[in-house]
Amino acid sequence: MSIAFDNSYARLPDTFYSRLSPEPVSRPEIVALNRPLADELGIDPDALTADILAGNALPDGAEPLAQLYAGHQFGNFVPQLGDGRAILLGEVIDTNGKRRDIQLKGSGRTPYSRGGDGRAWLGPVLREYVVSEAMHALGIPTTRALAAVTTGDDVIREAILPGAVMTRVASSHLRVGTFQVFASRGQFDALRDLTDHAIARHYPDAQGPLDLLSAVTEAQAELIAAWMSVGFIHGVMNTDNMAISGETIDYGPCAFMDAYHPNTVFSSIDQMGRYAYQNQPNMAVWNLAQLASSLLPLIEGGEDAAIEAAEDRLHAFPDLFGAAWIRRFRAKIGLTTEEEGDGALIQGLLQRMATSGADFTNTFRALADGDASEYLAEPGAWESWAADWRARLERQGHDGRDVMRAANPAVIPRNHRVEEVIQAGIDGDFAPLHRLNAVLAEPFSHNADTDHFAKPPAPEERVTRTFCG
Ligand code: AMP
Ligand code: MG
Ligand code: MG
Repeated sequence: MSIAFDNSYARLPDTFYSRLSPEPVSRPEIVALNRPLADELGIDPDALTADILAGNALPDGAEPLAQLYAGHQFGNFVPQLGDGRAILLGEVIDTNGKRRDIQLKGSGRTPYSRGGDGRAWLGPVLREYVVSEAMHALGIPTTRALAAVTTGDDVIREAILPGAVMTRVASSHLRVGTFQVFASRGQFDALRDLTDHAIARHYPDAQGPLDLLSAVTEAQAELIAAWMSVGFIHGVMNTDNMAISGETIDYGPCAFMDAYHPNTVFSSIDQMGRYAYQNQPNMAVWNLAQLASSLLPLIEGGEDAAIEAAEDRLHAFPDLFGAAWIRRFRAKIGLTTEEEGDGALIQGLLQRMATSGADFTNTFRALADGDASEYLAEPGAWESWAADWRARLERQGHDGRDVMRAANPAVIPRNHRVEEVIQAGIDGDFAPLHRLNAVLAEPFSHNADTDHFAKPPAPEERVTRTFCG
């Protein structure tokens, strides 16, 4: 089997990666294959065998490698991370002319595995498959899921669990941490090569490191606003998990909120709430500041001038984020015109939702299709907000229903449903996976399954903790 690879990363100096092949697994079996994505990549889906998707066989033209990077994990700098359980097979130019990485995750140990086993178990693989494809269907920039296979091997975590390999597609796997590793080692030639590579690949109009910083800042402001608008909590926004492309990457402990509260955290390892829902824009800025400091050696005019210039670029984030946020939330309440008081109107709703523990997705969806008053339990909460909202809609001259239906999904990958898919998968039953994927592929429309998957968890179904896997 051959894939028309064009491996630009493998052409970079060998300080950027370690070349090695995936470690074979015992009995690979495909549990999900994303045929439309394969078509988009210009790859015949029928040629993607379990052996290829598990790393047991390499397609012709692959130049497998593990990428080097560093990163701040929960604020602490780790000088070397890297692909400890992933292998980049290569890059293809897709049918739209876009360059895409094809990576296997869970493919065995690499020189960057540290104490880890290089493997993934089925749970996180299914979570990433479901949630990354749901994000794509919601119109949010993300890595994609091409396939999930079981390996036939056990993986040892808190229990003995079935092993799996995920095939991930990304516009690149360049991260803030990729810049950090070369900056922290004083490898400025590599840093320059990386910057040129990133610009050529993602932001060809950028004229140098400062423009690159601006472009990434803009992309992240848009991305985080998109997350906020659907109640998505990434959970592990370490600098090695922030992509230069502006795609969502690393679906470890991520989750969508059911009941709205700004301080919501799911990740079991995020004990301080560093990556809580409401903190995500701040954490994006924190990460961008790490990118900025990594780029300083490449900025001309001396250190002080470089710092000042980089800070200038970073300071664009609050306005960019604010504009993206209000654009999205205006649409969520049906507004197509702009008024001074819109921010306060939106906050008024969110505050009432927080007080009532209202379901984030369903409350917004009910503004267009239903009765949102049922979600605001506090006496008078709905009426006091709705009066202002109706007056505002009247001033714009239309009811905003179509806008709201296109901005407020009916279904999101709720945690308890993802858990259900994982539990069934452990028992070898992948029907729930396919059923959930099917409904999430069209999150803004209604079909026979929508109501079932739109339901918030019953108290005994609630999942409050997620794990990295
Ligand atoms: P993450 O928390 O998923 O961003 O991963 C942080 C780092 O740990 C990365 O360098 C991963 O490659 C590495 N890592 C995570 N799980 C494993 C594993 N099971 N074996 C080896 N390395 C791992
Ligand atoms: Mg990661
Ligand atoms: Mg991870």
